Amino acid sequence: MILLDKCPVCSGNSLDKLLDCNDFTTSKENFTIVSCGTCDFTFTNPRPLNENLGNYYKSDMYISHTNNSKGLFNWLYQTIRNYAVGTKVALLKSITKEGTHLDIGCGTGEFLNACKNAGYATKGIEPSELARTQAKNNYNLVVSDNTDLTQFSEEEFDSISMWHVLEHIPNLNKTISQFHKILKANGKIIIAVPNYKSWDASYYKEFWAAWDVPIHLWHFSKSTIEKIFENHEFSLRKTKPMIFDSFYVSLLSEEFKIGKKNFIKGFAIGLISNLIGVISKRGHSSTIYVFEKKN
Ligand SMILES: [Zn+2]
Repeated sequence: MILLDKCPVCSGNSLDKLLDCNDFTTSKENFTIVSCGTCDFTFTNPRPLNENLGNYYKSDMYISHTNNSKGLFNWLYQTIRNYAVGTKVALLKSITKEGTHLDIGCGTGEFLNACKNAGYATKGIEPSELARTQAKNNYNLVVSDNTDLTQFSEEEFDSISMWHVLEHIPNLNKTISQFHKILKANGKIIIAVPNYKSWDASYYKEFWAAWDVPIHLWHFSKSTIEKIFENHEFSLRKTKPMIFDSFYVSLLSEEFKIGKKNFIKGFAIGLISNLIGVISKRGHSSTIYVFEKKN
């Protein structure tokens, strides 16, 4: 295990325990989440050694199941996913009309393929071999298994996206400084992450599925993610709620809490969280942030 003794955002050394969470999906081990007393940045601490993190991920079997279109639940999942891909491409179009786009953690390639069809030159990174193979077989995409961003040239990209990926990356500061190098002047980066300040997070407490310890190493809020990117010469341009994530996370959290599925309750909590997200400043279960590289 690695114990961080100071905050990676402000270097403050007063770290207070926020809560203990269980890894419900894989190891059933408990992990502690701490918040920085100075800047409020929140992270899993201690966390497994980088080389052991892979043991805490669900097996590759998960991907093959979710791409099987049989059954109402899978049909619904794929319909929502297709809709979500459309809104993601629309967001990209609204911030960068054309150019070279890098999707980090592109999975089975649905979003990257839609970007390619929308006229972008695309590159993808995906560590899972099975997901990469599907991206190649289904969409003929070229996806790298190399997660080291120094493989790219300076100012190579007009835009980068990370859909629920940044919270998994061990070297947070090094990675964000590398984004700055490989983006062109005024280049944009789209970051989607869970928001632990959301109402569904405070309702479910340690059962909130998006804590997802220990593979979620960092737990962002609007103010802390803005500060981290500000430290690396990026400014926040736009935020956008992820409405479907509130339902998905609430359904999963409900299952962790009571030990079985409860669609009606999970749906209701997701709905309430979205409504509170609209009328308050807490935000939704997950948020998309668009940052622009300063010059
Ligand atoms: Zn701090």
